[in-house]
Amino acid sequence: MIYHLKQLTVFLILLPLPSGLDPQQLPTMSDLGVQEIAPDKRSAFPFSGGETSALDRLNKYLWETDSVAVYKETRDGMVGSDYSTKFSTWLANGCLSPRQIYWELKKYESKRTSNQSTHSVVFELLWRDYFKYVGLKHGDKLFNLDGIMGKQIEWKQDQKLFEAWKEGRTGVPYVDANMREMAATGYMSNRGRQNVASFLTNDLKLDWRMGAEWFESMLIDHDVCSNYGNWQYSAGIGNDPSQDRKFNVVKQGLDYDPQGEYWLLLSGAHSKKVVQLEGQVVEGVKLEGDGIVAVGGEDIKEALTSTSRTRTQ
Ligand SMILES: Cc1cc2nc3c(=O)[nH]c(=O)nc-3n(C[C@H](O)[C@H](O)[C@H](O)COP(=O)(O)OP(=O)(O)OC[C@H]3O[C@@H](n4cnc5c(N)ncnc54)[C@H](O)[C@@H]3O)c2cc1C
Repeated sequence: MIYHLKQLTVFLILLPLPSGLDPQQLPTMSDLGVQEIAPDKRSAFPFSGGETSALDRLNKYLWETDSVAVYKETRDGMVGSDYSTKFSTWLANGCLSPRQIYWELKKYESKRTSNQSTHSVVFELLWRDYFKYVGLKHGDKLFNLDGIMGKQIEWKQDQKLFEAWKEGRTGVPYVDANMREMAATGYMSNRGRQNVASFLTNDLKLDWRMGAEWFESMLIDHDVCSNYGNWQYSAGIGNDPSQDRKFNVVKQGLDYDPQGEYWLLLSGAHSKKVVQLEGQVVEGVKLEGDGIVAVGGEDIKEALTSTSRTRTQ
């Protein structure tokens, strides 16, 4: 309540610009001495920033294309813009509020359709809110190695493995394509984020904060609570630590990019063969049973099977 009153007061005392003052144009990147960034044609977020563009997307995703009515079926897509809402970047930058989305959805549900897909979008927004509350409750623990659970796990800080993950050259096509997408465009799908985070924490057993920090420096939708909260979740030290969060990244690649369309888009490769399990080798990934024993052509069986992630508490 006090918070709302304070906000209202600030709003009321915010005076208009003095007359005759020319607010001028916002400086460009080059005016600020920074190199202009050319948008990457492959981006799943080919939109511009700002509230106008955010409202336009909201309108198109709901009313013009009815994409929201099939969200549940499309949300794990990898290519294009409409498999998910793409609201996160505007939300993170304050151009759109979750309440605006919520009320527009309610309107859509009453006038067009209310189904599992429209409910799912609200459910995802609740995750966002939930991570905000996790942040409020646990404060700095969001950045602690042991997480909000205070669970001691021995993590490694192997720079070589980290660089391979970061630059998308682990040899696992699905992981690499996602990492390359984020580096080139600043966006990565939710399915991709879960997989690359699981790979870093569960397969490479690297300090999860290295991954979270890399995400923080790359994502155009970076949000402290969502990012660190999700990373802790993946690392098994945040919410829901009881469940096994490990993804079989090779299987996921075959499930979610069966034709290799996504891999081809990001890798520049010319053959779809790279995503097929031929014998025991998938583009540098050597499999033994269900497990990955070599990455990027190098045998890292030691690294992947070592007991480096033993509980010390
Ligand atoms: C390791 C990891 C790091 C992440 N880092 C961020 C981050 O920095 N910023 C961020 O906004 N999201 C983050 N997410 C959550 C999610 O991946 C993105 O919000 C989503 O991919 C954005 O695309 P979208 O807007 O099309 O999402 P949609 O699938 O259309 O979902 C609608 C909205 O719901 C919210 N949402 C969906 N999934 C989640 C989730 N798991 N956690 C919290 N909110 C969610 C977002 O606000 C999103 O815009 C992260 C997830 C993981 C696994």
